[in-house]
Amino acid sequence: MNYNIALLRGDGIGPEIVDSAVEVLKKIGEKYNHTFEFKAYLAGGCAIDATGEPLPQETIDGCKASDSVLLGAVGGPKWDTLPGHLRPERALLGMRSALGLFTNLRPAKLYPALKDACPLKAETVAKGFDFVMIRELTGGIYFGERGRRQGPGGEEAFDTECYSVAEVERIARVAFETALKRGKKVISIDKANVLESSRLWREVVHRVAMEYPEVECTDMLVDNAAMQLVKNPAQFDVVVTSNMFGDILSDESSQITGSIGMLASASLGEGTVGMYEPIHGSAPDIAGKGIANPIATILSAAMMLRYSFNLEQEAVCIERAVDAVLNKGLRTADIAGNSDVKSLSTKEMTEAILKEI
Ligand code: NAD
Repeated sequence: MNYNIALLRGDGIGPEIVDSAVEVLKKIGEKYNHTFEFKAYLAGGCAIDATGEPLPQETIDGCKASDSVLLGAVGGPKWDTLPGHLRPERALLGMRSALGLFTNLRPAKLYPALKDACPLKAETVAKGFDFVMIRELTGGIYFGERGRRQGPGGEEAFDTECYSVAEVERIARVAFETALKRGKKVISIDKANVLESSRLWREVVHRVAMEYPEVECTDMLVDNAAMQLVKNPAQFDVVVTSNMFGDILSDESSQITGSIGMLASASLGEGTVGMYEPIHGSAPDIAGKGIANPIATILSAAMMLRYSFNLEQEAVCIERAVDAVLNKGLRTADIAGNSDVKSLSTKEMTEAILKEI
């Protein structure tokens, strides 16, 4: 098959790690007889420098015309003082809305080879964990009515959490479909003991659950979920939650893996076009040094194969190659811990993964 992939290399370490993922995709193409064609577009700080705006129309059009989008990371101190609408991060929001991406999918997996980096208790680490956090991305309080007004006690501010049945239904379906391909267990997180929007969320999730009798579905309150993630993360398979709860809990779930340079993510919409990116930022402190860990971006490319192109075998091949290099003890500096082993450069780590493929 032939696939067109739009590349948004972005800023900082973005270009270095995207180039690594491109090498890996090319190798997968050779092995499994697919053609991946890549076209690069500007987004973020580099786009501001070249065109004056973080997300030029040409980039939006190019991404819409592609089969999928691979993003490095955007931003950096150079653009930190620009007004909000001109900040590099606007490119991310703009792409989500241009492509109608309402789902954010973040796997959180503890790699046995990296268990020393996990900040959790040894007995929790011993059980391991491997779950996917699914966050609704385009609704809820981040997009609800907001404002300031004069109240009886002076100035006040408000933000509104609002979810429609249709919004909850579509994200719930993503969760159940994802669970079918994994451990067949969905935990839906809300605050239904207090919030009306959560009560609607819960009702709709239960209704959708009836369409998936083979998937076990339970509810969990968000405050309990925050605790359970550090106490017993092994209980989770697929977690689904609203925009704000997902924003917070997905960062918590990344943190408990102990290795930010390892974590991939996917943003998906109704169709097959998705945007795939590492969860970390542009790491300006190490940009240009050739030491960035490319694994999160390489695993993002694996997610692209799975979720946009339905190439499960090829995705697994990349994931196995990453497991293999880690099991051999190969490490980039960020995941080397206190070991005496020499850390690999971005290029060397990429080569090692290519060799395993
Ligand atoms: P960051 O994730 O860029 O860096 C945090 C720390 O992790 C740094 O010490 C960095 O060196 C390290 N790190 C991150 N990725 C790494 C990798 N692949 N290999 C090795 N080490 C890695 O977060 P930050 O410093 O808060 O943000 C830097 C810039 O990135 C900011 O401008 C921020 O707005 C932007 N940002 C962009 C995105 C995105 O594009 N999706 C996400 C988060 C932050």
